[in-house]
Amino acid sequence: MSEKSILNEIEQNKEEYVEFFRKIIQADSINPPGNEKNVAIIIEDYLKEEGIKTEVFPFGENRANLIALLNHNFDGKCLVFNGHMDVVPTGDEKEWKYPPFSAFIKRKKFIYGRGTTDMKASLSAMVIALSVLKKFNIETTRNIVLNAVADEETGGNLGTKWCLENYLQSKNLYCNFLIIGEPTGFHPLPKAIILGEKGHIQLKIITNGVACHSSVPFLGKNAISMMSEIVLHLDELDDFLPNVQPPMSEEKIKELISATFPNKEHFDKVYNEQPLIQNFVKSLTQYTKSINMISGGIKGNVIPNQCEALMDIRTLPGQNTKMLVEALKKLIEKIGYEVRYTPHSNPEDIFVYLEILNEAEASYWKNWEKSKKLMYLYSLIERIYKKRPFYSLYPGAADAHYYRGSDYCNKTLIFGAGNAAKAHTIDEYIELEDYINVIKVYTLFSFDYLKKP
Ligand SMILES: [Zn+2]
Repeated sequence: MSEKSILNEIEQNKEEYVEFFRKIIQADSINPPGNEKNVAIIIEDYLKEEGIKTEVFPFGENRANLIALLNHNFDGKCLVFNGHMDVVPTGDEKEWKYPPFSAFIKRKKFIYGRGTTDMKASLSAMVIALSVLKKFNIETTRNIVLNAVADEETGGNLGTKWCLENYLQSKNLYCNFLIIGEPTGFHPLPKAIILGEKGHIQLKIITNGVACHSSVPFLGKNAISMMSEIVLHLDELDDFLPNVQPPMSEEKIKELISATFPNKEHFDKVYNEQPLIQNFVKSLTQYTKSINMISGGIKGNVIPNQCEALMDIRTLPGQNTKMLVEALKKLIEKIGYEVRYTPHSNPEDIFVYLEILNEAEASYWKNWEKSKKLMYLYSLIERIYKKRPFYSLYPGAADAHYYRGSDYCNKTLIFGAGNAAKAHTIDEYIELEDYINVIKVYTLFSFDYLKKP
């Protein structure tokens, strides 16, 4: 058995793989509410037919996680693939040119549907990779683990985190390389290999004032005015934060991207002409904050006693939720208001209430430059896609922080089919060639991994 025979096998069965992918797209797994079990059952059926033992872990209403192991008796290390089965809601389906669960194929080139890019193509490719490897029956003490998870789009506590704590760690599956299949195409740039992600904090801020008749506003305290003071001073948040450097500088990221260009001059020209790439680089090297929703007041002639806002913070590795909430508290105190973490109060109390709605830590694979396996992956992607990829960071949050943060596997990376800009959009689609290419990359990378003693 050789790389060539694996590639032949994949080439010969492309149509079957596309059919499998269509089934996965057509299974409704919109989260919320989830329904990931619809997808898990299809994967389980497919892998069982190939003789791969697969376990489904159901929970809630029609939700589930899934774990499949290529080999059953092994005493070595494993390579883990993580792919989420849930997708985001479709929005108004009438706005879709091709219905979101149609898996419509256009000109034998593109396939449409919710989740095609994020991330049912990579998830399907992981399943196919396992089935191809099973056929070749490779003698090894190592293993390949597929962890198909629920709940990624709503934080991952019930998906990746649950599987990590209740299976991977508790069964002592020693992992020394982990791939998450989120889309890593950043058009017009080629494919990226993602080595770190920013964190995400969602905060609720409620300003509590005192209501009164608006003809005598001095008797009350206007909660909307309180909130506007916070909005106006938001940039001063930086004064209360420790200085944290991004894991890669702007120069470093530009250097990594420029490796995909014929020369530095060419890259500089494209970079200077493309605000999209400039903003991408900028988003990777700065923490950001914004207030994105606001509501308050009950009537045109009543001084409002409450105003509520939702704040979104994107952190860098090295920053954490505690740091940010503490800084926000100090800022609000400087403005002149007391900060509380419980909403209960007397009607005359003036204060600001803070609540963390969601949090995902930022994380980063330190020392990635020393990894030979990573270099092999890079060369494999270059060979299959016929284009050099680039190492980078992710502006969004991903489940990688669970693995790195828990020390389960620091060598966690993201690489997958699809263009990240197409995720969560109307008429989401992916190129079929991209899907087949990612099957090749996952399978050959696994093959190489299994062969190594
Ligand atoms: Zn995703």
